[in-house]
Amino acid sequence: MATPLSASKFLAALRAEGVHVVQVGNWTTHNRNHKGAWGPVHGVMQHHTGPYSSEAAMVELCRTGYSGLPGPLCHGVIDRSGTVHLVGYGRANHAGSGDDDVLAAVIREDKKLPADNEANTDGNARFYGFEAINKGDGQAWPDAQVEAMVRASAALCRAHGWHAESVIAHKEWQPGKPDPAGVDMGKFRARVAERLKHPASWSPSTTKPPAPKPQPPTVEERLTALEKRVTALEKKES
Ligand SMILES: [Zn+2]
Repeated sequence: MATPLSASKFLAALRAEGVHVVQVGNWTTHNRNHKGAWGPVHGVMQHHTGPYSSEAAMVELCRTGYSGLPGPLCHGVIDRSGTVHLVGYGRANHAGSGDDDVLAAVIREDKKLPADNEANTDGNARFYGFEAINKGDGQAWPDAQVEAMVRASAALCRAHGWHAESVIAHKEWQPGKPDPAGVDMGKFRARVAERLKHPASWSPSTTKPPAPKPQPPTVEERLTALEKRVTALEKKES
């Protein structure tokens, strides 16, 4: 349980984690707080947007919403190049109603989540939400986009002192939801956990250990090679 970060602390946490951020309109005050609770927060929820005409149009749709579901529809829209567009802050229409057993497991940071078979709990008050732009039809996930999803999740875990088990998918929360489709949340949480072992500035690509140097052949290997050459020579002579 935690009080939500202020908008400025939220922004600073993302930037410290190396996330490229674009601030859209009046995002810091654009929310649904007049319609319900915002906080205490317990975790981070990842989504995919579904079909889109252009990425810019999808960012705007997530900001304004549509009839029947007013925006913001998340806090950050993660585009396919990995830029996070901040469209709202506070209560947002992203998580909907989900399973109280899942929420309890997230609060305990259980390694295994129960099946999401109830829609009895308001998730919009409890989760930060990110919408990754993906059609959800098997469309590929660019590395830069997934890396941004991991970093955004880790940034909030780090800020709140949470572990990777505080990060869930919409599909793990609300019955019938498929998103983010094609993302293995076990592997995703493992990446968040790995990040949290390092400082926020950690960049996996630059901290990879150097490739091992080729080892010189062993005495056995050299003898075998010699034997082969001798055998070949003997064949030639006979
Ligand atoms: Zn969703």
